[in-house]
Amino acid sequence: MFSIADNLINVRQRIKKAEIATQSVELLAVTKTRSAEELLLAIQSGLILFGENYVNEAIAKQETLQNLCSDEVYNRLIWHFIGPVQSNKTKVIAEHFSWVQSVDREKIATRLNAQRPPNMPPLNVCIQVNINHEESKSGLNTQEVESLAELVHSLPNLKLRGLMTIPKAMQSEEALRASFFDMKTLFEALKKRYSDIDTLSMGMSGDIETAITCGSTMVRVGTALFGKRQL
Ligand SMILES: *Cc1c(COP(=O)(O)O)cnc(C)c1O
Repeated sequence: MFSIADNLINVRQRIKKAEIATQSVELLAVTKTRSAEELLLAIQSGLILFGENYVNEAIAKQETLQNLCSDEVYNRLIWHFIGPVQSNKTKVIAEHFSWVQSVDREKIATRLNAQRPPNMPPLNVCIQVNINHEESKSGLNTQEVESLAELVHSLPNLKLRGLMTIPKAMQSEEALRASFFDMKTLFEALKKRYSDIDTLSMGMSGDIETAITCGSTMVRVGTALFGKRQL
């Protein structure tokens, strides 16, 4: 049995080994299905970026943690929504998250913009790309990214930060690399056009190193930190 603190040391070493000198990679702890107690341990180990997939589950844990942590600690945490966004959940997401990494259609972008509370800073947005054109996955094809990027950029309560992808599972290392390089190309093109672009969110527990060597700036890690999910 490894503790979250031990796992974190291991994950940080994997990131550090794969990084090149000019690159700094952020670690997003993916906490879907994990208890508030597990999140508290992760916070105590020094993690501050958290990724959640299910709105109701996330908000319940946020409330619990707000009670368990001091304001100083709680206010440092940064919540990323990374699951598919249903339009009836946009208001709650706009009120409870700093980032949404899974924006993939106009309707969702428009609603998030309209529902972001005026006293909060703009909501950071990544556009989700379905890089392997899988039927079962959310996300846009590469040719569709430009027009949604244009829209997100034009909305005052959203801040376009970059791209997110979940590549096809179980592909060869070579195919995976090709997918990640396509993302990097798209990311560089976007960066030239918009000044706030700095986030290429790719890489999960199984492919942290490959994603980083292909240019990832943020890895989203669940299993390698918390162990296998039961659900
Ligand atoms: C669950 C999930 C992850 C983490 O996957 P692990 O393999 O457990 O590291 C990353 N990104 C998204 C969008 C997820 O849903």
